[in-house]
Amino acid sequence: MKLAARVSRITPSPTLAMTATAKAMAAQGLDVVDFSSGEPDFDTPEPVKAAAEAAIRAGFTKYTPSSGIDELRQAIADKLLTEQGLRYEKAQILVSCGAKHSLYNVAEALLEAGDEIIIPTPYWVSYADQALLNDATPVLLPTKEDQGYAINPEELQKLVTPRTKAIIVNSPCNPTGATYDKRTLEAIATIAVKHNLLIISDEIYEKVLYDGATHISIATLGPEVAERTVIINGVSKAYAMTGWRIGYAAGPKPLLTAMANIQSQSTSNPCSISQKAAVAALKLGGPFTEMMVVEFDRRRKVMVERLNAIPGVSCRMPGGAFYAFPNIGGILGRTGPDGPVTSPQALANYLLKEAHVAVVPGEPFGSQHHIRLSYATSMDTITKGLNRIAAAFGKLT
Ligand code: PLP
Repeated sequence: MKLAARVSRITPSPTLAMTATAKAMAAQGLDVVDFSSGEPDFDTPEPVKAAAEAAIRAGFTKYTPSSGIDELRQAIADKLLTEQGLRYEKAQILVSCGAKHSLYNVAEALLEAGDEIIIPTPYWVSYADQALLNDATPVLLPTKEDQGYAINPEELQKLVTPRTKAIIVNSPCNPTGATYDKRTLEAIATIAVKHNLLIISDEIYEKVLYDGATHISIATLGPEVAERTVIINGVSKAYAMTGWRIGYAAGPKPLLTAMANIQSQSTSNPCSISQKAAVAALKLGGPFTEMMVVEFDRRRKVMVERLNAIPGVSCRMPGGAFYAFPNIGGILGRTGPDGPVTSPQALANYLLKEAHVAVVPGEPFGSQHHIRLSYATSMDTITKGLNRIAAAFGKLT
């Protein structure tokens, strides 16, 4: 069988692969510390579960409108209006099977062969692969760790060509935890307006912010920015609902109509029960999220402090999301049982084999100097895992 050429352009999600390996080792009885997983360790809040149970009991178990139930689209519109001051009609909102699916619908509706999409690096692994799957070319925009991973507008401007269709904005960012300030967002918006680019604003971590920071959606910078921005969000991270698979997109009507048509011919509606659960999450989940973020904040500080105490490691304090992204450049080049450890991937392999600690190497995020550790796990696990990492790094010569 000859598969489509696009298949050979992509690799399976490396974060999911590392999590699967860690789970398989644990299933064999090994005591694995898993820092690879990109999901809150908290259980889904009770009111959300209750709404799902009620939906099942009421027989709300059939097809729904392909773009999502009115009640959920209205709850999303209300959220965008009250929290961001942005007004969207129903036809501008599409509910999908997770934010990853929302992003995929954007890529399919927007991109074709020869098109370019600018992705600031380090970046979330799926942006580039989704572009490749839709025959487009990801154009990577490097950002610097010592500048807080902020986008340099001049560098961005240099990458724009007549084939550029869109730019990704992901604040707070997975994997760096960096957030963009208003000036950075304004600079991106100015370039997008000038060159008629779509801004794909992935705001999935908007509620996971620390130190009193507040989220700014780039779409709020003015009507001419809003009309070229598609906001991507969902309930996975803010309400500990990764398995329920509800994400959404809100943006310009022609784009959202095209995405809705694609969805109607591909997956149809997201799970009916999950949609009812998502309504409850958006309406009742606020206190849960606040509680969770307070706990993440404690863990963030412990993990970053412990990482910085390891010779050869330096770690910035992330401003949002729930990942530490330490620079392990000072460790690379040392030698382990299988020879020199020269890349983040080799270091991640070493940690898994020697210390039974799962982390995600930097390469798939576009970094040759970092690994990513999630602190969405218990404080005991963080302490145990960091003890093991410190000991394992200490054994490298
Ligand atoms: N965007 C970013 C930056 C993410 O980190 C993730 C999940 O890891 C997603 C989107 C997808 O989230 P969902 O579970 O809603 O598909």
